Amino acid sequence: MICRVCDSTRLDPVIDLGNQPWCNHFLRKEEIGKEPFYPLRLVHCADCETAQLDFTVSKETMFGDHTYLSGVTQSLSRHFEQLAEEVNQRFFLQQSGKAVLDIGSNDGTQLKHFLKLGWRVLGVESSKGTAQRAIEQGIPTRNVFFNTVTARDLPGPFQLINASGVFFHLEELHSVAEGIRACLAPDGIFLVQFLYMQKIVENGAFDQIYHEHLLYYNLKTLERLLQRHGLTCFDAYLAPIHGGSMMAFVHHQGGPHPSTGREKAILAEEERKGSNHKEWYQQFGRRIARMKNENLDTLGERKSKGKRIYGMGAPVKGNTLLNYFQIGPSIIDCLVEKNELRRGLYSPGMHIPIRMEDEIKDPPDVYYVLAWNFKHEILKNQAFLLSRGVEFLFPVDPDRASS
Ligand SMILES: [Zn+2]
Repeated sequence: MICRVCDSTRLDPVIDLGNQPWCNHFLRKEEIGKEPFYPLRLVHCADCETAQLDFTVSKETMFGDHTYLSGVTQSLSRHFEQLAEEVNQRFFLQQSGKAVLDIGSNDGTQLKHFLKLGWRVLGVESSKGTAQRAIEQGIPTRNVFFNTVTARDLPGPFQLINASGVFFHLEELHSVAEGIRACLAPDGIFLVQFLYMQKIVENGAFDQIYHEHLLYYNLKTLERLLQRHGLTCFDAYLAPIHGGSMMAFVHHQGGPHPSTGREKAILAEEERKGSNHKEWYQQFGRRIARMKNENLDTLGERKSKGKRIYGMGAPVKGNTLLNYFQIGPSIIDCLVEKNELRRGLYSPGMHIPIRMEDEIKDPPDVYYVLAWNFKHEILKNQAFLLSRGVEFLFPVDPDRASS
């Protein structure tokens, strides 16, 4: 195996989460026990310092038909709305004929907000069902994988190219980066929204490690990749979404946008903390093993008192956690979810049944919150249950972050 970013062969194993099923395929009853398992291991490149998986599940398996809908949560939709307004205000207020391309546009939630602001919008989404849903909602969407070849057929150049989350799913990394460079207007902005690895580690959010996420960027490692493709970051900040996502503003090298200095401050902080070093990740690996013991102790203690435990949410990342902790239906009766696409399905690997929120008439004693990144939204919405003494346990707690 060679480094996905710099082709080096100097890759050191740092975290091993065992063999895991592909976490984004929730199972129908007849599929239970037939799902394949793949190694889930993180390695660190001694040359470019990028943390990455050493095993690739093919992109056709991973992104042909996923059931993640970005429109589902209020806080995510609000984040996308604020971001569209920010980009429009800061950079493009006076410009007419503005076009935005969203790579991995999902159900069109991000583009919807640009459409409202008068932009011409286009989405690229590899999941057929999700692309169809976006089109039905009036968001023009191409159902293809974005890369250098498919980029040629798009009606560019684009003043803005957005890639949220998807940027580190990408198997054809350099082809995608080249495609972006080719479609981006000379004064255009490429907005990369990605889970920030330093924050993942500080939050103890190891459940963000799963097969779709091939690469785990800090700003320094992202910049290395961009440099290789004639692009560079001129501004960046950390937004609270998903427990800590980096918003990186990128343009062509020598592009027109002055540096805000914020990206330099983040790079300096990475340097100070050592968050690009192998030791940082090894330490994280040891912490994850401790979290497993602590979580199993807590749940076991509640069980021994005869308490009923439900999982709250059936997020994709929850499957990394459940499989690594080995938490199955003997501990958690069901996962309570509001995404209709997951009705009647079972979690891969651990086979916990999913039930829809509106099916739950009688609340459990304990909710084990797998969708921990929406902690504040959940606690606000569940004030009634809290007042009735239902306990909410957070396996990962962004409010108690440490490094
Ligand atoms: Zn490398």
